[in-house]
Amino acid sequence: MSTQNPIFIPGPTNIPEVLRKAVDMPTIDHRSPLFGKILRPVLENVKKVLKTAHAHVFVFPSTGTGGWEVAITNTLSPGDKVLATCNGMFSYRWIDMCRRHQLDVTVVPQSWGDGIPADQFAEILTADKEHQIKVVLATHNETATGVKSDIAAVRRALDVAKHPALLFVDGVSSIGSMDFRMDEWGVDVTVCGSQKGFMLPPGLAIVGFSPRALAAVETAKLSRTFFDVRDMAKAYDNSGFPYTPPVGLLNGLKLATEMLLEEGLENVFSRHHRIAEGVRQAVGAWGLQLCAVRPELYSDSVSAIRVPQGFDANRVVAHALNTYGVAFGTGLGEVAGKVFRIGHLGSLTDVMALSGIATAEMVMVDLGFPVKLGSGTAAAQEYYRLSVGSPQKKAA
Ligand SMILES: *Cc1c(COP(=O)(O)O)cnc(C)c1O
Repeated sequence: MSTQNPIFIPGPTNIPEVLRKAVDMPTIDHRSPLFGKILRPVLENVKKVLKTAHAHVFVFPSTGTGGWEVAITNTLSPGDKVLATCNGMFSYRWIDMCRRHQLDVTVVPQSWGDGIPADQFAEILTADKEHQIKVVLATHNETATGVKSDIAAVRRALDVAKHPALLFVDGVSSIGSMDFRMDEWGVDVTVCGSQKGFMLPPGLAIVGFSPRALAAVETAKLSRTFFDVRDMAKAYDNSGFPYTPPVGLLNGLKLATEMLLEEGLENVFSRHHRIAEGVRQAVGAWGLQLCAVRPELYSDSVSAIRVPQGFDANRVVAHALNTYGVAFGTGLGEVAGKVFRIGHLGSLTDVMALSGIATAEMVMVDLGFPVKLGSGTAAAQEYYRLSVGSPQKKAA
């Protein structure tokens, strides 16, 4: 692949030059006041990005997966009951992690391409009269299938059942790209990472704990040391870390959050929506289907595109990489070989997106797909051309 080309995997995402520079910094004494000048704005800005006034934000040297472990190990005890659904590879992996921690997970089966079945959650929660379920897991954006679920609906399921379980949300591939409202949706733990919407290299788990989640920490018996939020909280009180902090990445996160807030979160979301819609116009013009089964599920950060019967999606990804130096995402798990993914999140413009669409099109024509050269690109061009002066854009 060529590093001159934008990347179209759904994370890690393209890193803006200013963020690369912010991450690359000389060593500072992390016990000096200099470090607090990085940490304090990071914690404040992340709260704004999560749309929370009440949560405590913790940033660990890790990735999104480590963020899950932070969420689970700090709030639960072995044998605790957890409710989840499996509608893709990432929701599956979170469930798998819970089981490896000896948690008792009730999994509501769901087809890959569909969203979280909030109605079934409501039934199960209503039937749980003794409130044995301690946590409900929700993957906001299932990156494997390009499916966005309705977190407000999951909150309503808990409320309708008058159930006190905590709500944990994986926002790794939605936060900083798609609307997310931690307080309004009553989310107790939010998990994200540095390398998707935050446009940084991988290396940080970014988590938010509601006051209720923090209260659960005191009685949780799963073991944790490196990931103990109590040690982190105590260190933050003195603007420090319980161990050596990843200073460069935190400096990057300071600037990344400033950039997101300066662009304006609503403008960031409408930019992602517009870029995604152009990709979807192209998919329609190619005569192909998304993995996501209904428009309200369409993700604005990644599109998983079904290849026609008898064709291999893995060849699309390999050919794009080998021939044109462009990276797309492969299909994972159940949809391996059936879909390829175009990641369209983070630092991206419609002009960059057009290069990805045009490349995917060349690849499919090379491989003999029944796709007309130029068809998807023209559809996206037309959409971008006509929507470029949309009211949302002017407001930016
Ligand atoms: C990328 C991703 C993860 C995993 O994050 P890592 O940083 O690779 O550990 C988890 N959940 C979702 C939805 C993701 O997109």
